[in-house]
Amino acid sequence: MIETKDLKKIYGDHVVLNGINETIQKGEKVVVVGPSGSGKSTFLRCLNLLEMPTSGEVWFEGNNITDPKCDINKLRQKMGMVFQQFNLFPHLSVKENITLAPIKLLGMKKEEADKKAIELLTRIGLQDKADAYPNQLSGGQKQRIAIIRALAMNPDVMLFDEPTSALDPEMVGEVLELMKELADAGMTMVVVTHEMGFAREVATRVMFIDEGQVKEQNTPEEFFRNPQNPRLKDFLSKVL
Ligand code: ADP
Ligand code: MG
Repeated sequence: MIETKDLKKIYGDHVVLNGINETIQKGEKVVVVGPSGSGKSTFLRCLNLLEMPTSGEVWFEGNNITDPKCDINKLRQKMGMVFQQFNLFPHLSVKENITLAPIKLLGMKKEEADKKAIELLTRIGLQDKADAYPNQLSGGQKQRIAIIRALAMNPDVMLFDEPTSALDPEMVGEVLELMKELADAGMTMVVVTHEMGFAREVATRVMFIDEGQVKEQNTPEEFFRNPQNPRLKDFLSKVL
């Protein structure tokens, strides 16, 4: 579904991604971990070209999206993204947040988009919040709405950048639970997180990024039981 070829991102003389060659297959749930500043967000943002790589290629569903001739906007619609800070539009109601992109980008009729929004809200038990505004919601509610807003576009892959890091601890569980449901439903997912329990339980593969490179990756069982790279051992000793 996604392939990166010698992906590099350099800011000035700061090499943030230093040649990443990775393939993400349909249905995989890849959890990305690593120290702060190691390039995890940059990697994720290069996958849907929120950041333009300095060199190298990103392929998505058979298209080289780093090719200037590629219509990235069409393809990006197939890649849902969820951020640490929710990024809901504060001046739009919950329902308007969810229906905006399907109406504007997919040309969906308002009635159809509304119906889908209510279906998605019902799925997460927040149908009564359809006309509320983001500032009337808890952090956990905001993030779950950000997730279903992405789902309203019927993406083929979901990218999550520390989706629970800005939440009060008591709200982390409800967001991870929704992500787990998505995983169980077969969604292809790339998740940057510090939630090692989620990695153990949900990941098909855990990837350790350090200094802009994938230093080690494995099934969660092996990754946590038998880490090889000294930097990974050190990282795990701090987070587990
Ligand atoms: P992580 O998500 O692993 O914490 P990031 O990908 O956010 O790491 O950042 C990796 C490095 O790239 C950091 O040192 C950060 O300061 C730097 N960086 C990220 N974005 C920019 C930018 N727009 N301009 C300059 N440096 C950046
Ligand atoms: Mg980050």
